[in-house]
Amino acid sequence: MNETDTLTIIKPDAFGAGKAGHIIAHLEDAGFRVVAATVKHLTLDEARAFYAVHRERPFFSSLVEFMTSGPCMPLLLRREDAVPELRSVIGATDPAEADEGTVRALYAESKERNAIHASDSAENAEIEIAFFFAGTERLRA
Ligand code: GDP
Repeated sequence: MNETDTLTIIKPDAFGAGKAGHIIAHLEDAGFRVVAATVKHLTLDEARAFYAVHRERPFFSSLVEFMTSGPCMPLLLRREDAVPELRSVIGATDPAEADEGTVRALYAESKERNAIHASDSAENAEIEIAFFFAGTERLRA
């Protein structure tokens, strides 16, 4: 089995609404295992750095404000084909366009307050894992 790792963040909207446990159960039911987890209130500089790729977009300052509005929960997840499988499980960016039964269809409020982040490539997954979990032991269950 070719298991790979990816990074997700339960965003401040869903974490603050007490949905972290529901979302983790959803991800485990979809075959993901939690390798590492933390709860973190991002600083402005951290949120700007994490979303640097979007810095020229009109929603950048609003996104940074949202992501620093309360604690969030980054998780390192593992399963076969983890990156594309997680993108599929979370659904489209805008919950109005997300497939039924996806995390965003179930828990997101809006295109911005959309409950969950997932890495969009294997390369970005390793960069994003290092952002939150550098030095963390990645144990095999
Ligand atoms: P993702 O990969 O599905 O998370 O989407 P993107 O990488 O394109 O965008 C990153 C995050 O920025 C999204 O998850 C949303 O929280 C936010 N976002 C994306 N597009 C918009 C938009 O058009 N308006 C606003 N306000 N936020 C957006």
